[in-house]
Amino acid sequence: MALIVEKFGGTSVATVDRIKAVADIVIAARKQGHQVVVVLSAMAGETDRLIELAGQVAKNPDSRELDVLLSTGEQVTIALLSMVLQEHDYPAVSYTGGQVHILTDNVHNKARIIDIEAVRVKKDLADNKIVVIAGFQGIDENGNITTLGRGGTDTTAVAMAVALNADECRIYTDVDGVYTADPRIVPGARRMDKIAYEEMLELASLGAKVLQIRSVEFANKYKVPLRVLSSFEEGPGTLITDEDEEMERALIAGIAHNLDEAKLTLRGVPDRPGIAGAILNPIAEADIEVDMIVQNVGVDHLTDFTFTVHRNDFGKARALLEKTARKLDAKEVLADDRIVKISVVGVGMRSHAGIASKMFSALAGEGINIQMISTSEIKISVVVDEKYLELGVRTLHSAFGLEGDDNIIDDAAG
Ligand code: ASP
Ligand code: MG
Repeated sequence: MALIVEKFGGTSVATVDRIKAVADIVIAARKQGHQVVVVLSAMAGETDRLIELAGQVAKNPDSRELDVLLSTGEQVTIALLSMVLQEHDYPAVSYTGGQVHILTDNVHNKARIIDIEAVRVKKDLADNKIVVIAGFQGIDENGNITTLGRGGTDTTAVAMAVALNADECRIYTDVDGVYTADPRIVPGARRMDKIAYEEMLELASLGAKVLQIRSVEFANKYKVPLRVLSSFEEGPGTLITDEDEEMERALIAGIAHNLDEAKLTLRGVPDRPGIAGAILNPIAEADIEVDMIVQNVGVDHLTDFTFTVHRNDFGKARALLEKTARKLDAKEVLADDRIVKISVVGVGMRSHAGIASKMFSALAGEGINIQMISTSEIKISVVVDEKYLELGVRTLHSAFGLEGDDNIIDDAAG
């Protein structure tokens, strides 16, 4: 007997029929002798609908009241699932986040979980009940309802798994696992059986939107095995776990892409100490996150400085940079929001050289010009023109042999 936490996202509970299908999955786990705790999202589209409603009555809805509103979506699905389970003669009980003491900080709309007191849930499990918990929400120390940020139900599920010391946390969604690349772009993309937490973190932050990043960080910190799988079809999904020897043999886990960034360049700025700070401080003060940064080697005491921001912040960042350009007497500001960041990710990189050159030659072979490069221990990212999105991702996917089983270390030299 194992203790399993099963999380179902919005598309998995989008209709009454879907909720009935979820009940079947939960019951199947029970029949295998497992104890089951279920964590649910709101029906697909519901959270957006509620945000929209708030927007109709207030320009800037109060964040506390917004949380009171948003937390209702999950309360609907937990009650309905418990009813369906009871119809099947399974004892089920639903709880809101507050009722099971999911204690968070008081940052409304993006609260962080501080503690979960799992006593009540443990007692219910001991009494043979299926416990159904509302995702995405908690309470602060003053009893105010909080929510955890979009996609937060993943984090609730993992936190619950940690608190209960569960054997596995299963994240049911509308895809059957984590893929070596976006299957809509690369027809030959494969579902991975296993992936390391760190790889998943890189892939998640790079735009593979399967899991909320915080939930993976949480799972990694407490070493809870996470499994991503489909609630629409049967299958083993993808297990996200600690790096093992087998994984080290795999050179590259996958190729991620991100269309959410935009590039800004300040040309011809004086090359002297403090210039990078002078450029980026106003951006940071405006709460704009900067991703990649490149500063060129100075020529004639002038240099170029390039960085990327989220496309939503593009206009604002551009205006700030134009101001800075005037202040620093820079030559010009170049702005480009038609870029894509493509990254190769894999723990195998740690123990193996030559990945970068292989990546760059593969792109060059297709005439794709690289505009920016950044690297970390287990990833290499490049920025290229948006029009090369498909060609770039496909080229790298095949260059690293991700279609077949030949993605092994011996291959790297080739
Ligand atoms: N219902 C929330 C959202 O749409 C939380 C979640 O689904 O994870 O973001
Ligand atoms: Mg989600």
